[in-house]
Order: sequence, then structure tokens, then C-alpha cells
Amino acid sequence: MEAKYAELRRAVEETAAVDAHAHNLVAADSSFPFLRCFSEAEGDALAFAPHSLSFKRSLKDIAELYKCEASLEKVEEFRKAQGLSSISSKCFQAANISSILMDDGIQFDRMLELESHKDFVPTVGRVLRIEWVAETIINDDSFSGSSWTLDSFTETFLSKLKSVANKIVGLKSIAAYRSGLDIDTCVSKTDAEDGLRKELAGQKPVRVTNKSLIDYLFTCSLEIAVLFNLPMQIHTGYSFGDKDLDLRKCNPLHLCAVLEDERFAKCQLVLLHASYPFSKEASYLASVYSQVYLDFGLAIPKLPKLSVQGMTSSLKELLHLAPIKKVMFSTDGYAFPETYYLGARRARDVVYRVLSAACEDGDLCIQEAIDAVEDIFRRNALDLYKLNIANGSVHQKTTITDTRISTSCVEQDVLFVRIVWNDASGQHRCRVVPAGRFYEIAKNKGVGLTFASMGMTSFCDGPADGTNLTGVGEIRLMPDMSTILRLPW
Ligand SMILES: [Zn+2]
Repeated sequence: MEAKYAELRRAVEETAAVDAHAHNLVAADSSFPFLRCFSEAEGDALAFAPHSLSFKRSLKDIAELYKCEASLEKVEEFRKAQGLSSISSKCFQAANISSILMDDGIQFDRMLELESHKDFVPTVGRVLRIEWVAETIINDDSFSGSSWTLDSFTETFLSKLKSVANKIVGLKSIAAYRSGLDIDTCVSKTDAEDGLRKELAGQKPVRVTNKSLIDYLFTCSLEIAVLFNLPMQIHTGYSFGDKDLDLRKCNPLHLCAVLEDERFAKCQLVLLHASYPFSKEASYLASVYSQVYLDFGLAIPKLPKLSVQGMTSSLKELLHLAPIKKVMFSTDGYAFPETYYLGARRARDVVYRVLSAACEDGDLCIQEAIDAVEDIFRRNALDLYKLNIANGSVHQKTTITDTRISTSCVEQDVLFVRIVWNDASGQHRCRVVPAGRFYEIAKNKGVGLTFASMGMTSFCDGPADGTNLTGVGEIRLMPDMSTILRLPW
């Protein structure tokens, strides 16, 4: 079988991957224990980590890369002798990762700045964690904390998101393991305000957990995502990080209200971590909702109890129904460069297993499987996050610079939106649409114009002779949301 799929194997190993979800490395003198490279268990539970199958397997993989004995002591010795920079280069090179999209809203001791990862990987993009932004504002003493109202807090939160919207590649939410994915996009301002008050009255530093407030922040952030055409990554399924996790609430099926909300129908949502163990549910959602995408971060620490078979079957389940164009790779690497290496190595192995089996089953021919490799490891992420990495920089191809758009949460005081276009005679023409109608309908479906409006001359109020255009029949004028801005009058 191996010989038959040699070309597929080569494609899997040689495709330079875009790692669509990962976190920062830590400095060599960080207090974060290297053992956490293999497990997210904490305290006494960490003592058992070396006895798990995944630990033994991962240690062997790293020892093979470092050409040292497969023991924790020898690997740590090697790391110390080589230094962080040298082992990082080695790991990223072996992982064959060309770009990383990094959520830096996680907190580790002595975490490296996002920029410094460019020493190891040519391109690094930032994913902004929205709960982290909210907590940063609430815990910042320079604001007079207790006097926050929901309006003043929202204004600061939104202006923070807008100020970086052009410099990031996406947003991210961890609502799943704070209050659950049954997000109410119509949460009332009274409930959100009440939630904010409770958070402010609690212990400092505040860790936002109030459901109404999280739902409200999520909804506001989606409005920004729509406005700036940014995808939103959503943590789904299993997580080892939070003890108060209620796995039932991390099932992506709970996202119904978000997915059915017309306002956000065009906002691309990326379900992270293969939604494990809800991979079939995630696959179903991606097949039914055009805005749903799937990311299968398989880094060993995030899914510590998964055997190779477990990882293989969860990727298989993702592909049960979901189009290949919606499934993408990430390592979910963090803190130690070895996690990136392990994540990439395991993912390549698992993708090969799944695609070669699909060929055996007759689902794909070998060439289709090779195309799928390019999609899964690279092309899908480039398209989804609108990355232009040709010149070595990660940035969005289209962005908005200055915008003060009103939607229900963002601003309430815009009454009308003007849609302006240049007609065939070079004149500006304009349609005025009530703001409510614009966001409900015209934004996505456009407005109707008569055929005649395309043949108007500059000197009389009617279509030019010979155009044969009349007031009968209709064309659709679609607004270009990247040009929207608030008029100062
Ligand atoms: Zn992550």
C-alpha cells in the first residue's frame, strides 16, 4: 500500500504548512515546566504524565529529532546545551511550517513577543482573543474600574478591537469553557450590564465568566468581524486548561442561535480542535452552514488522551460530511517549539492515513487526495484568513482603515446609509436606505435599480438615445462594505 501512495506521502511530508492556530513560545528561563510539553495536567496529576502512551510516543519522536536517548533527562540536557534559538530552528524546520497564526491572549511566564517568532518562521499573523481584550480593560487600573457603565465599557472594548482590526488575521473566543456555546446573540443590555457589574464586584484580577456579559462581548465582536471581514475562531470541544469546563456546553451544536442569526450569516466561524469529541457534529455544521469552517489542532498536549487511532478517527469524522475546502490544519503548539514539531508530525501522519483510506474506499482518486493535502495544510487557511504571504508578510488583502459603523451593539445613532456609485456618464448617484433596512437586507442582498439608471446622460433626466434601457426591469446594486464610513454630519 505504501508504494501505491508514495506520491501522496511525499505531498503530505513536503507541503509547507500554514499553522492556523497556535500560541506563543516561552523564554528558556520561564518557570513553565517542560513536562507541560506533553500534558496540560497540573499539580499532582502532572506526576502521572510520563506514564501515558502519548508521553512515551512524543518523547520518542523528540529524541529521534535530537538524536539523543529517549529519556526526559537526556532531552532536557540537549535543550539546555543547544539553547532555545537553536532548538526552535530545528523544530520549526522539521515541522515544515511556513506561517503561524498566533493567539497571544494566553498567559505564560516569560512569554515571547509575537514578533520574535519571526526568527523561526517567515510569517506570523495575530489572532485576537476577545475575552482577553475585555479582561485587559477591566483589570487596567488606569481606567477608573468601578465606574464603568456598559456603554462606556463597550465603547472602549470596540475601539480596542477596531484599532487593531487591520493588523490581525482573525478574532478568537473561548466562550465555550467560560459559559458555554449556547450564546444568545439577542442578550439584553440590562442583563449584560448586570453581568458587568457582577464581574467588577468580584475578585481582582477579573476573569470574565458571566454568561450574559460573554454573550454580549461575543455578539459585539461578531459585528466587528463582519465589518472588517475577519474570521472568528471559536474554541469547541475538549480543553484541559480549565477545571470548570462543562464539556456538554462545548458541543458546537449549541451555536445554533449564532448560526441562524441573519446579521452574522456571512461571518466565517472556525470551530477549533476538531470539536473533539463532537467531530461528527462539527462536520454536520460545516456541511449545512456555509459560514462554518473546521480546524483540527491535534497537538498532543491539547488532546493528551487521544491515541493515534483517536486522532485518525476524529479527522475521519470531520470529513464525513464537511467539504475538504473547509477543513484545515493547525498544531495548537504553545510554550515549547517541540509542541509545534509534534503537532505537525502527527497531523501529517494522520492526514496521510485518512486520505489514503479514502482512496482505498473509492471516495478519492490519488490526485484528488494530493489536492486535498494542499487544501488542508495550506490553501484553505490562505483563503479563509485572506493572507498574502507572497512577500513574507502576513496581512489581509482587504481591510478597512477608518470606520464608525452602526449596528445594534456598536452605535445606535445612525439613521440612514447612503449607497453611492458612479454612473456611466461619470456622475455620482446615490440611494439612501434606512440603517435598519440596510443591515437587515441591503447589506447582503443589495438594492434594486432600474435598467434606465445605467444609461442616464449628464445633461437630461432620462436614458441616452440608443441605449434601449427603460424603466422596466431591475439590476441589483451591491454595497462594497470595505468602503463604508461614517459621515461627519
Ligand atoms: Zn489553542
